[in-house]
Formats: sequence, C-alpha cells, structure tokens
Amino acid sequence: MINYIKNKVKELEQEIIKRRRDLHRHPEAGWTEFRTSALAQKKMKELGYTLTTGEKAVSKKEMMGVPTAEELKKHQERAIAQGADPETVKAMEGGLTGFWADMKFSEDGPRLAFRFDMDSNDVTESKDPGHRPVKEGFASVNDGAMHACGHDAHVSIGLAAAQIIAGMKDKLKGSVRFIFQPAEEGLRGAGPMVAAGAVDGVDYIVGMHVGFQAAHKGELICGADGFLASTKWDVRFKGLAAHAGAYPQEGKNALLAACAAAVNLHAISRHSEGATRINVGKLTAGEGRNVIPSEALIVMETRGITSELNDYMVSESGRIIKAAAEMYGCEYSIEVTGGTKSGKSSREMIKLVAEAAGEIPYYTDITELKDFGAGEDYAHMMSAVQEQGGIGTYIQTGIDRTAGHHNNKFDFDETGLAPAAELAAITALKILGK
Ligand SMILES: [Zn+2]
Repeated sequence: MINYIKNKVKELEQEIIKRRRDLHRHPEAGWTEFRTSALAQKKMKELGYTLTTGEKAVSKKEMMGVPTAEELKKHQERAIAQGADPETVKAMEGGLTGFWADMKFSEDGPRLAFRFDMDSNDVTESKDPGHRPVKEGFASVNDGAMHACGHDAHVSIGLAAAQIIAGMKDKLKGSVRFIFQPAEEGLRGAGPMVAAGAVDGVDYIVGMHVGFQAAHKGELICGADGFLASTKWDVRFKGLAAHAGAYPQEGKNALLAACAAAVNLHAISRHSEGATRINVGKLTAGEGRNVIPSEALIVMETRGITSELNDYMVSESGRIIKAAAEMYGCEYSIEVTGGTKSGKSSREMIKLVAEAAGEIPYYTDITELKDFGAGEDYAHMMSAVQEQGGIGTYIQTGIDRTAGHHNNKFDFDETGLAPAAELAAITALKILGK
C-alpha cells in the first residue's frame, strides 16, 4: 500500500500545485469561502464521499464575526462569476461555507478525521513584479484578500489526500472524515462546526499547517502544545452627544470612556501561572470637533497559555470596561467575535505521525513536539476529540518561504505540498489499515 501511495502522490503532484495556484488567485476571507468550498465539495462528491453541508455542518447560532448580508451576497456573486457552481453557492447562504465529507470502509473500526482550513487573510497581495505569484500569473485577483497563510495549500493537500485514501478503500476499515473549515483567521470557524457535530464520535484527529514553525524544506513538527487560548471582543460605548461649547455638562463622553478602558486594559496584572496577552487593536470614537463624543468602539483580544489564564484576562477586561463606562456615565455592550481554547497534542498520535513521516524521504528534519505559542482554533476541535476519549495532533509541515505568514509577499516552494498529502495518506493507512 505504501507503494500505491507513493505512486499516486507522484501522479497527483502537478494537480496539487495547479489547484493551490487556482485557490491562491481567488482568495476568500472568513465565512465568504463560497468558491473554495464549492470547488472542494464538487471534488469530494466525485471521489465518492458523503457530504454534510449547510446548517447541518455549521451551527448558525455559534457563528461569530459574520459579514453583513449585503457583503455575503457580493461574495456569493463574485464566487459564481469566478466559476463556482451557482446551486452550491446558493445553498451556503448566510456564510455556511463549512462542510465535512465522510467515507465509511466498515461498520466498526476507528474513526479518523482530518481538518483543513479554507479562508484567506485581509491582506492585499504585493504587486511587485519580483513576487512569484505576480510573475507567474497566479496572484490574487480579489482586492483586499490574499492567501498569506497557506490555507490555499491546505485545501489542495486535503483534496489530494482524500483522493489517495479513496483509492485504497478496499484495504481500509472504519471511516475517514475530511473537515473543510471556514474562518480560521479570527478563530471563528471551529466552534460552530464542533457544535454542529463535526467531531462527534471521532477517535483520531489530525490538523495540519504548512510552514509556520516548520520554516524550511524537509522539516516536520509532529505535534504542538501551548496553543494560546484567545477571546476577541468588539466593545461599544454609548454616551450622549452635547454642544461642546454651550452645554458640555449635558454630554456623556464615550471617547473618554473608551480611552480609559484601553489604557487600563493594558494594565491588567500579569499572572504568576503563565503567559497572557492583551491588545486593543483599534479604537474609533466621536462625531466632530464641537460635539461631546457619544459613540466609541474598541476592537480587542485577550490570550492565555491555558484556557483558565485567558478566562482570567477576559474577566479582568470585563471589570475594567464596566468601570470605565461607569466613570463617564456611559452604557456599553460587548460582542464576542471569535475565540478558541488552548490545547495539547496527544503523545500517542505524535508517535503515529512520526512513524508515518519515516516513510517519506522529503522529511529529513523531524521534531516530535513544539510549543505553538499562537492561537489556532483547531485546538478547539482537538480538545473536543480528546474530551470524548480520542486522540489528536497538529502537524506543521516544512516549506521554504519567501516571507513570513500574513506578509503580503508570502509565497513558498510548492515541492513541499505533495509530501504533506503523502503524510496524511500514510497516517490514515497506519490507523485504518486492515
Ligand atoms: Zn494559517
């Protein structure tokens, strides 16, 4: 079977690259992955997988940070104009772009799931003629959106792995599920899919990212601990407008409330039990020079090395925001726009992946475990599997990059894509092989 996988990977390599470039050219940000999802759904159906889509795959009430209906409509129209199947796009109305695809090999046996994220970043891709996607004609045509984190590669790797695994179905037992997740950026997509049952009954789960800490060709990190738990908030302060010259005493100053909150949020005491972070990333307020500002908005996030430490930051933030609003006689409201738990990879699963990687000559530098030190909402899926008695890990597969993730000149050596698909397929064979 290993030889079948090796031959198949070789056969698919050019297709993997071609698909990655097509996705790179048509990036779609969180909850607007209409074209990407339609394309992936079509391929998975052709391969014989059973799809779970729409509200069955994404719990609507758990969705956070969803663009307005008007924006979603624009993105749906764009997806269709860029070649997506209109029926499929229509069925994803409201931003329901996430789906999973199942293949069952036997009634009993292990249930394995893979998770691949699909969304792009809010970055405008470099137009520098030296930037390879520009030079070779696959740079983003969607203004303000760019695959600057490699999720285009993830979808392409996932589809190839699904094809290879479908091709060995007679030799497998149990079942496999491919979860195609929207809105990883902003940590919004995993929660609603878990709530809809994406990992119910899953015994093994694998998530994967190209690059990141595996920043060179041949490198592989089989597991990660120390995913930062995080919470994203939009905080609105509401005061009362008044003439700043004639009747300033009648106003309630929302700008000052927001400023007091911003300064004091950054003064939350550090915690002896571990690392925490806080950032007020945006503050907008006020109407005009001679008006007491009646509205203010803070866009902020907290992080913690454990879910408990993040909870501490969240609770302190809430206290400070409330006090700042009261000090200036303002009202306030908090909208949660994203978040994730912390997480640790299962040791047993790390061993399985390391063994699988031993079969692949590309991987010359294999590390079992690293501290991730950032947020990834896959941690939410992995923890859910572990809570129900299963095991999981998060793989970082090495690529040579031209720039860091989220940079507008991000690009990478695509010879690292086929080995990642091969790794997924061999890991599946190790778990599901008869
Ligand atoms: Zn990413």
